[in-house]
Amino acid sequence: MMKEVYNWQIGRRMKYPYEGKRPKRQFAAVFDTNKCIACQTCSVACKTTWTSGRGQEYMYWNNVETKPYGGYPQAWDFRVLEMLPAGGWKDGVYTGKTIFEKAEEQKKKAEGYLPALEEWSYPNIGEDEIYGTVEQGMHIEGLPHPVWFFYLARICNHCTYPGCLASCPRQAIYKRPEDGVVLIDQARCNGYKECIAGCPYKKPMFNATTGRSEKCVACYPKMEQGIQTQCIEQCIGKIRIQGWISPPEKAEEDNPIDYLVHIRKLALPLYPQFGTEPNVYYIPPIHVPAPFLRQMFGPGVEEAVRTYRESVPDDPVLKGLLVMFGSSPEIISRFRVKADVAYGYNGKGKLVARVPTTEPAVVRKHYDSRLDVYRIDIT
Ligand code: SF4
Ligand code: SF4
Ligand code: SF4
Repeated sequence: MMKEVYNWQIGRRMKYPYEGKRPKRQFAAVFDTNKCIACQTCSVACKTTWTSGRGQEYMYWNNVETKPYGGYPQAWDFRVLEMLPAGGWKDGVYTGKTIFEKAEEQKKKAEGYLPALEEWSYPNIGEDEIYGTVEQGMHIEGLPHPVWFFYLARICNHCTYPGCLASCPRQAIYKRPEDGVVLIDQARCNGYKECIAGCPYKKPMFNATTGRSEKCVACYPKMEQGIQTQCIEQCIGKIRIQGWISPPEKAEEDNPIDYLVHIRKLALPLYPQFGTEPNVYYIPPIHVPAPFLRQMFGPGVEEAVRTYRESVPDDPVLKGLLVMFGSSPEIISRFRVKADVAYGYNGKGKLVARVPTTEPAVVRKHYDSRLDVYRIDIT
């Protein structure tokens, strides 16, 4: 018998197999897709830390896929989207069915599928494959671009209503009340793979050596020390920030995640229509046509792109917060921006990041009369 819970990302109550009880605080992160260079440092940082053992060879708890054609496992999102009846959004409310509501019709816990083995065989399939055709002599001007791709970095979303947890018949998956991290109890798991089928993001993975399923653990031993996860701390492009998200009605202006998600609505959940209330949020790519982005990030995407393009250059607070990404190994719980400097504070209120919002720039003359040389790169 399904219960009723409130999912703010779809703007309404929905069915879920368990009572909705939010944790004391909820792990969350924001990824800026505009800055990701697909260097895969995050993927390797996770792999060397957590999945270098036997049976884990194919696992990438963190992966970075090129959209629209990339996917690990292959085409995971198209497969799930096809399973849900077509549904739209009206005034911020999702009018279609979530994976739980679809499943209820069939007396299941969560709608989903189990990827075939070969679908896990090509972790970077579709890399740098462009949507559209570049004609000879084509010159791209303006936004969005007629041909495009972008990089989507993915980890487990440590969902508020996890599909993996809902579908496990052994109740081996639990959500920690202290930080909302979703874990698989290896002692209870019997390797039924139901979590893999029930997670729409396909983030649990089966270990054929141990006969149990495994997944991203949000680097909880680091988190317990106040340090960001491996994939977030090591990100070369500084596209990521980790923190805690409040429910919208309790959003706090000086909480970096709340500010980006709830207050400025710049960062959006990935496929909110699945219904799991995922807690990794994305700043959408500004060069990609709106219909694709709307399907992926929901109805707020055009406003988010507009904010990114129009507000960031002249908005000291937003600009300050965005340059603070990747500036400290510690979790930044609070921030403020004053006189063109962004300050980040850890959970104990200690200053752990101090970043100028504008870098000084020196413009040199094209012709240097002292050395009698011409400079091509003058900034
Ligand atoms: S390390 Fe950062 S920039 Fe590099 S692929 Fe991962 S998310 Fe993108
Ligand atoms: S992303 Fe998947 S594995 Fe992670 S908590 Fe959500 S449903 Fe579970
Ligand atoms: S949070 Fe930790 S375990 Fe999860 S993908 Fe990132 S590095 Fe891997």
